Amino acid sequence: MFDVAVIGCGVVGSGIACELSRFRLSVAMVEKENDVACGTTKANSAIVHAGYDPEPGTKMARLNVEGSRMMEDLCRRLNVRYKRIGSLVLAFRESEMECVRALYGRGLQNGVEGLRILAKEETLKLEPGLNPEVAGALYAPSAAIVDPWGLAIALAQTAVLNGAELYLNSPVESIEEAGGFYRIRAGKNNIEAKYVVNAAGTHADEINNLAAKPFFKILPVKGEYYLLDKNQGGVVSHTIFHTPTAAGKGVLISPTVQGNLIVGPTADPASGPDDTAVTAEGLQKIAREALRCDASVNLRESIRNFAGVRAATERDDFILEASPDAPRFVNAAAIKSPGLSASPAIAKEARKILEGIGLRCEEKERFTEYRRPPLFKDMTDGERRIAFGRDPLYGRVVCRCETVTQGDIRAALRGPIPPVSVDGVKRRCGAGMGRCQGGFCGPRVHELLSRAYRVPMERIMQDKTGSYILTGETKAGDAT
Ligand SMILES: Cc1cc2nc3c(=O)[nH]c(=O)nc-3n(C[C@H](O)[C@H](O)[C@H](O)COP(=O)(O)OP(=O)(O)OC[C@H]3O[C@@H](n4cnc5c(N)ncnc54)[C@H](O)[C@@H]3O)c2cc1C
Repeated sequence: MFDVAVIGCGVVGSGIACELSRFRLSVAMVEKENDVACGTTKANSAIVHAGYDPEPGTKMARLNVEGSRMMEDLCRRLNVRYKRIGSLVLAFRESEMECVRALYGRGLQNGVEGLRILAKEETLKLEPGLNPEVAGALYAPSAAIVDPWGLAIALAQTAVLNGAELYLNSPVESIEEAGGFYRIRAGKNNIEAKYVVNAAGTHADEINNLAAKPFFKILPVKGEYYLLDKNQGGVVSHTIFHTPTAAGKGVLISPTVQGNLIVGPTADPASGPDDTAVTAEGLQKIAREALRCDASVNLRESIRNFAGVRAATERDDFILEASPDAPRFVNAAAIKSPGLSASPAIAKEARKILEGIGLRCEEKERFTEYRRPPLFKDMTDGERRIAFGRDPLYGRVVCRCETVTQGDIRAALRGPIPPVSVDGVKRRCGAGMGRCQGGFCGPRVHELLSRAYRVPMERIMQDKTGSYILTGETKAGDAT
């Protein structure tokens, strides 16, 4: 019997499990996929928003500002990429300047530090490549960029390192209150837990409805993107937004912590909670909007298009509360943007809610955070020599675009949550994230995984269960 079962291992569930693992509690982490960070956490803009956008007084506003203040230190401790680059919300006409002023006022109410309204000249001084017709901007120096899946994986690894038990490939299908505890059927596993946290992202309404009365519905909203090659990474040095509309924060242009440029997202109704299909119309919309801000963005340098799904509901706020009708059941639901930014604060808040409904939290004497192993490409020459001395595989480059070595991959395979798929390796070490998108290193990573797990290559997936790369052996003479 576990004290707490956390359902869903994105940045929210992993953060909550990590926070709980600081206490003398037994924690189960239940995830339907074959890895953590496979949902919205791996497909978003990766911005740590300053917090001027959410409506003052909402949980979203408070937790965004708190989370953004906690993020830099958290990422430093876990060795997750983070860069405070600041953001600009551009206005091109007087009506948009009004919006900038309204956001400024909202930001002050939310407690965002350092906000300034810039005139045209100051804006162009910060970002000389912008459309010269810009009228002014809201400058938020506290905004940052982060590696979202890196953060979620490091949080989940820390939870596991401190005793949490991770159930992968375990889709929750039923939750039954059995008199003081819950019985959870999750794939082949039957899990018992006194408390349940629902952090199932775009599926959170389904999980709530297994245990409690339906009171919210996820209305999934898709966001499509262009990811541009590193030769575009320096086109802007801040995150550039348009003034927001009712549909969302609008299309942004931003450097990523990996050195690429991300352009997007759209905000259109998705056909379901997992609809991550990219569309020609979506990409055209992004191109139109992005080029209005900065005509020098070269979308022909696109190396990947992808989409993520927002867990929106009719209520424009996070649903972070104990269930009104299921005892010892907490929803961390409707965590749409700025959920990534707010995630460190959401984790603390969820633990406090659990304490409020009777969970006893006594701090452990020892709690160890998992520092992600440094990557060869980030090491100094001296560190490289030491790494190579310890493990000569650091001298063998597997991914040429991103300079990822076999030593990096071996270190990931030795972590508390080792990758089982080619994309799992990508999310941990960056192999396959470069210009060729795994064209060169994909087959090599595939082979390394097959050897590490001593399984035939046909059993290794590209990403989620079912994403086969090979379905049979090719014999000489097959190709005629
Ligand atoms: C287009 C877009 C852009 C965004 N940009 C930003 C941004 O720049 N900054 C920001 O702060 N936020 C941003 N967000 C929001 C942010 O990405 C999310 O708030 C955050 O990733 C939500 O994390 P999560 O853990 O709640 O959900 P997820 O990452 O989706 O995790 C939920 C997990 O639950 C699992 N699950 C689902 N059903 C079951 C089941 N039955 N049994 C077991 N497991 C289950 C899923 O497999 C998944 O792993 C953006 C979102 C989108 C879509």
